[in-house]
Amino acid sequence: MLTDSVFPVLILLGPPGVGKGTQSRRIAEVLRIPNISSGDILRENVRDGGEAGEHLKMILERGELVPDSLVCDMVASRIAKADCEKGFIMDGFPRTREQAEFFQQRLTDLSTGVTRRHFEPILIRFCVAESTILERLSGRRVCPTCGGVYNVHSQPPSVAGRCNTDGSTLLIRDDDQPHTILRRLQIYEQEAWPLMEFYAGKSKMFEIDGDQPLEAITSEVMAMVRQSFNSWLNPSLHYS
Ligand code: AMP
Repeated sequence: MLTDSVFPVLILLGPPGVGKGTQSRRIAEVLRIPNISSGDILRENVRDGGEAGEHLKMILERGELVPDSLVCDMVASRIAKADCEKGFIMDGFPRTREQAEFFQQRLTDLSTGVTRRHFEPILIRFCVAESTILERLSGRRVCPTCGGVYNVHSQPPSVAGRCNTDGSTLLIRDDDQPHTILRRLQIYEQEAWPLMEFYAGKSKMFEIDGDQPLEAITSEVMAMVRQSFNSWLNPSLHYS
C-alpha cells in the first residue's frame, strides 16, 4: 500500500460538534490508518475509575480542558503503538499551543532514528455556523457499548433511543448539556488562534465547510490528502 517513507498525520481542527469525530472515523477506514480521539482516550480513563478517573470526570463534565501534561502523555503512548507507524488521524488533539509544541517534537522524535520514516502533519479545519453546532451537540446521542454516534435531528437510529448495532440505550454525553456546550465553545475560541498561529507557515492547512453532506466532506478531505500525499496513496483507495 505504501510507496515511500513519508507518512501522513491528519490533524482535524474545529469546535466541538463540527463533525471531526465522524469524519475522522470515515477517513480512517478509507486510508486504513488509526483515528485517535483524545476525548475517547480520556473517557476511557474516566470509565477505568479510581481517583484519577474521578478527577478527569469532573473536568470533562465542566467542559474544561484537561491539563496539557496529562493529555500529552496519553497521546504520546498511543501514537508510539505499532499501528501508528504508517500514519494516523488526530481528532481533538492538539488543542492548545503547548500541546502543539509537544506534538511537533514527538513527531520529530518518531521521524528520526533507524526507521528513516517521516511524519508529515497536515491540518484540516472544519467550519460551521454556531447555530448548527448547538443543534448538533444537543441532538447527539452515543452508544455506551460500541461507541456509535447518532443525532436525533440528522442521523437518528432506526429505533428511537436504541443503538442500531447492539440495541443498547443511547445516552446524552454529560458534556453535551447546554451550559457545558457553551463553555466548550468559549474555550475553543480562546485556544484556536494561538494554535493556528503555531502551525502557520509550518504545515499545510486546509479549510473545509463542515455544513455539507457527510459524503461530500469525506470526498473533500480525501482530495486534500491526495494533493498532499499523492505518492503515498494506493490508487485503489481513491474515494469520490
Ligand atoms: P471531545 O470528545 O474532543 O469533544 O473532548 C471531550 C472533552 O475531553 C473536552 O471537552 C475536554 O474536557 C477533554 N479533552 C479532549 N481532548 C483534549 C485535549 N487535547 N486537551 C485537553 N482536554 C481535552
